Amino acid sequence: MILHNTAQVNTRIDAGTILTIDDNFTTLTDHSLIIENGVITQISPTESVQHIIASEHYCLPNHVIIPGLINAHGHASMALLRGIANDLPLNIWLQEHIWPAEGKWVDSDFVSFGAKLAMAEMLKSGTTTFSDMYFFPEVVAQMAQTVGMRTQLACPILDFPTAWGSGPDEYIEKTLELHRAFESSDLVHMAFGPHAPYTVSDDPIRSLISAAREHSLPIQMHVHETQKEVNDAVTNSGKRPIKRLSELGLFDPDLNTQAVHMTALTESEISLLAKTNTSVIHCPESNMKLASGFCPTQALSAAGVNIALGTDGAASNNDLDMLGEMRTAALIAKGYIGDATALSAKECIRMATINGAKALGLEQLIGSLEVCKQADIVAIDLDHLNTLPSYDLPADIVYNTNASQVTHTWVNGKLLVDCGHLTGIDEDMLKDEARQWGQKIKSGNK
Ligand SMILES: [Zn+2]
Repeated sequence: MILHNTAQVNTRIDAGTILTIDDNFTTLTDHSLIIENGVITQISPTESVQHIIASEHYCLPNHVIIPGLINAHGHASMALLRGIANDLPLNIWLQEHIWPAEGKWVDSDFVSFGAKLAMAEMLKSGTTTFSDMYFFPEVVAQMAQTVGMRTQLACPILDFPTAWGSGPDEYIEKTLELHRAFESSDLVHMAFGPHAPYTVSDDPIRSLISAAREHSLPIQMHVHETQKEVNDAVTNSGKRPIKRLSELGLFDPDLNTQAVHMTALTESEISLLAKTNTSVIHCPESNMKLASGFCPTQALSAAGVNIALGTDGAASNNDLDMLGEMRTAALIAKGYIGDATALSAKECIRMATINGAKALGLEQLIGSLEVCKQADIVAIDLDHLNTLPSYDLPADIVYNTNASQVTHTWVNGKLLVDCGHLTGIDEDMLKDEARQWGQKIKSGNK
């Protein structure tokens, strides 16, 4: 609710509760956030900032304010393939359904609309930053800037030609071109996205590692998605994928490497990840739906590995709801090792915020609500039956809050969701177009 519309500072948010997710997990009650030029400039008791007049003033006494959620791994445009193939193992799902559908449908129009659909869903469920690994990243970059979302685009690298390019050399060159084109953007960041150990051979991996060093770009790769991937690699090369990638130089403290999935890990692999500051991106719902395996989050956390959280694409999740992903992460961690103390609610919230920022190399900008950080902020309405009464706020957020309770989402200080409604996207038109795409894909007629 906007109470005033006079000019002074840009935005003042008076909040019932603020979870800062700083190092001490500081929780503030009856505090206000002051935002100027997209940056948090003050966090103070509300009674002490009554003199500050803001052009936009939000009074949210029944809400908890948290840092914008960071979806650290996904394939946004696959929102258009949501639910196209279900209840199948990864290799059949990928080879017999997803790859043929992508071969037929993926072009810049598909990517543009799919990304917009995904961004709308993410914003409404509290995600302000997402990492994306998909074809035509320049189209996703443009859409992210139009919509106003923050993104890391892990540009795809594979051994074979796709609609986006002829092969690894061109993919690497295009990634560097995009890096140059978006270097001054405050929302769009480029990274290398080698798809997986089984789709990228040694030479391209060596090349992209050296380009990543030279240009200080992160690398995000699916690694150890399944036990089968590990077994096949051992059969074919005599080496587990992590050993091969390690010999190629992918795990190194001087690189920002983000390894997605990471099931079937040995103790020595976990200590290698810790020693090399490699981040793990955990995608529990996708892993469970495809029966891929379990990422040993408790062991990784105990070893000091930074674990972030991602939904993966909507084709294998089938939604992009990070609140739901946190809940699944907490439950699966406990069920997997038979220990109810594993992966606390607080740790899950860190995974979805500050750990995601660390994984993407953006922790100086986002991931917590602190003065001088960018105003990527989410308000969750706790005045609902399923969040009353409240004894333990982090537990409420992880175990019993729904995405529909997200009422406001700001990115860079700009309000993109207001009282549950997208401010910059016509949701009815978006839904109409999504239905039309669905009918076209279902009919098989391009
Ligand atoms: Zn993925």
